[in-house]
Amino acid sequence: MLIDTHCHMNIMLRNFSENPQFQPLTIQEIETCKNILSQAKDNQVETIINVGTNLVESLLCIEIAKHFENCFATIGLHPNDIDEMWPIRIQKFNHLLVQKKDLKIVGIGECGIDKHYPDYDLERQQDVFHEQIQLALQNNLALVVHSRDADLETYQVLAQYKNEPNFKGTIHCFSSDENYAQKYIDLGFVLGFGGTVTYPKNKVLRDVVKSIPLEKIILETDAPYLPPQIIRGKPNSPAQIKTIAEFIAELRNEPLERIMEVTAQTTKDLFGLQRQTFNKDNLLIE
Ligand SMILES: [Zn+2]
Repeated sequence: MLIDTHCHMNIMLRNFSENPQFQPLTIQEIETCKNILSQAKDNQVETIINVGTNLVESLLCIEIAKHFENCFATIGLHPNDIDEMWPIRIQKFNHLLVQKKDLKIVGIGECGIDKHYPDYDLERQQDVFHEQIQLALQNNLALVVHSRDADLETYQVLAQYKNEPNFKGTIHCFSSDENYAQKYIDLGFVLGFGGTVTYPKNKVLRDVVKSIPLEKIILETDAPYLPPQIIRGKPNSPAQIKTIAEFIAELRNEPLERIMEVTAQTTKDLFGLQRQTFNKDNLLIE
């Protein structure tokens, strides 16, 4: 079985620039979800974690998890999605987390540091990152960390929590070198790999995938973004986890079965998916 640990199905359904308010899923959108999920299942991708980047998207991830047994949600504020209302959003997250089991919230994020675009407010990004780490620690949830052009700053924040008992998570779309891979692993984190590992220019990333223990790797698409090389230019989808798994199996010279088994187990342990699946009665399944 394969798991997509980082997907944005909500963005595959809806154009947020046209409609930034939260609205429940429409019948049409539920149908689209069913198609995405059945295509994924045809490629052995049986579980999907949808990742929130702001309040409205986080609510939609919860909404999708409510409708589909094999979908789970994370809630968070992406560093590029922070406005001055952020303390209110964190408060709202706190309320949602009271019901985290029923709402199938399995992680906090994506959160982190992004220095890619000019005019970023590093101090604010750091403040919001710290707040979300606190949410994760208090709720014993995994962190989904976004770091872009900010290895040092991201690591410096995370390293402060090294000895906290519930401190865990994934470095989403890991894009750095072996040195940082080891540093994050030493903090107890796993690394998320997706389509970017298949891009011709990313040899450094392939060296990381080859060198670290398989137990430290989880698979993700970041769909609809970052399609693997074979469908470059087209929208990505959770079904492509199979492509990533096959690519990594060949890269590491290990059987596909083993890649599937170990990455799924690491994901279940990190996000507590096992615990949630046994809790089926509480879920609102249509
Ligand atoms: Zn993402």
